[in-house]
Amino acid sequence: MKTIWILGDQLSLTNSALAGGDRQRDVVLMIESRARGAFMRYHQQKLVLIYSAMRHFAEDLKRAGWTVDYTRLEEGLKFEEAVQRHFARFAPNEIHLAQPNSYLESETVTKIGRKLAVTVRLIPTAQFICDREDFREEASSKVRLVMEQHYRRVRKKTGYLMRGSEPEGDQWNFDADNRLTLIDWKKERLVAPPPLPRVTPDAITREVMEMVKREYSDHPGRGEDLWVPVTREEALRWLADFVEHRLPRFGDFEDLMLADEPILFHSTLSPMLNLGLLTPQECVEAAIAAYRQNRAPLNAVEGFVRQIIGWREYINGTYWLRGPHYRDLNGLRATRPLPAWFYTGETPMNCLSQVLRQTIALGWNHHIQRLMVIGNFVLLAGIRPQEALGWYLEMYIDAFDWVMVANVIGLVCHADEGRVATKPYAASGAYIRRMSNYCEGCRFDPNQKTGPNACPFNYLYWNFYDTHAQRFSQNQRTSMPVQAWRKRSPLEKETIRADAARFLSEYVPTSKPVLLTSPS
Ligand code: SF4
Repeated sequence: MKTIWILGDQLSLTNSALAGGDRQRDVVLMIESRARGAFMRYHQQKLVLIYSAMRHFAEDLKRAGWTVDYTRLEEGLKFEEAVQRHFARFAPNEIHLAQPNSYLESETVTKIGRKLAVTVRLIPTAQFICDREDFREEASSKVRLVMEQHYRRVRKKTGYLMRGSEPEGDQWNFDADNRLTLIDWKKERLVAPPPLPRVTPDAITREVMEMVKREYSDHPGRGEDLWVPVTREEALRWLADFVEHRLPRFGDFEDLMLADEPILFHSTLSPMLNLGLLTPQECVEAAIAAYRQNRAPLNAVEGFVRQIIGWREYINGTYWLRGPHYRDLNGLRATRPLPAWFYTGETPMNCLSQVLRQTIALGWNHHIQRLMVIGNFVLLAGIRPQEALGWYLEMYIDAFDWVMVANVIGLVCHADEGRVATKPYAASGAYIRRMSNYCEGCRFDPNQKTGPNACPFNYLYWNFYDTHAQRFSQNQRTSMPVQAWRKRSPLEKETIRADAARFLSEYVPTSKPVLLTSPS
């Protein structure tokens, strides 16, 4: 017999190792490791989500006729100890495993295999549409593979939203239609869509909530407030709910941010997708079916499809293409530590306060909040990319290494010499004022450029282009703000520099706060 080892983010009935197994003969191995859960100070809801989803998945497998050897966290075993016990019980010939989704997990299973002198066979994962090697080949044929090229290739390959060889609606991208602002929202007098379907914790989830509270009491968030599904059945219900209630306006308002309306028209399916409870194909196909049946417009469906088969696949491909040291890059030499208030939301900047408090409450923000509020601040304040990466990995319930490394190092911090994004995602307060209602409740004024009441994003933005003027003046896409900066009077420049220095020394001090990892 062989062992089929299923990791905590591989909970799919289409798991490729499971697909090659024999339920009469083989045994499934699943391990909850306390040390892995304590590797970082993960948000408690993230731990509840993963452990509860694992326990439910194990029950699904047993009902489907599989023998499951399951190590619970309370047993206190490390991965290696649990695997040793499994070998003593079942004496398998080999371990089969779908390719782990991170370098850390890949190394762990390989090391254990070596130590126990057992063959560990890694089967190409089915959790992504694109194979890692295909992506590598595609990237090697280009000087620089950008997301849009990759996305079009996947559209052609899969036939999603295609009419023969042409894109549906004769356009690859409807981004220009998908930028409605706060003014548009107010004009339409819209109200947010119906609330998300309610998830009531069952006995398994309640037990996990107690366990997480006990074992990880010093981690941020409240595990008992978990709000997303932990089973495939519920995940499918959420997918259907999204398609019916939120997909039709998703495109129009995908960049909008409102205080007290965290979800708006977003799908919130990423936690389930990244655990394997949903497949990317079924999400995309459900959205396309809604378009074909005139239940959702093309700009919304294309925007959603691009997030999944464009960004999701591109970010995963980049993670494996760039290698394990990509996470260490710091091209802009940003050295400030992450301020401790990222874990409390206590800041006078209302946009950041609103978004961070939501992160602490839900373990989730939508992509614009992550990129253009939190990420924008990280970039402009010069926070060390690796500290920012640690925070994103800890705080988001859908965050795994493969998704966060390229997003934070590449998109947020522009620390990779522009490999993932051709220009930094830097914005002044004007962007946040246009795309949110946060400024309405802020003690700062987005229209003031300097002085104690000016929006800090305004002077931090120019301070950023001042600091990196040399680098960005040579890039066609970023030379304009540098030129604009250079045209300013010496007095204006000095005022902006002084405001930025004063703000940073007060709110992003260089002394190290109490933070990030607690080693296993
Ligand atoms: Fe954020 Fe500036 Fe608006 Fe305040 S004024 S909410 S700091 S963008």
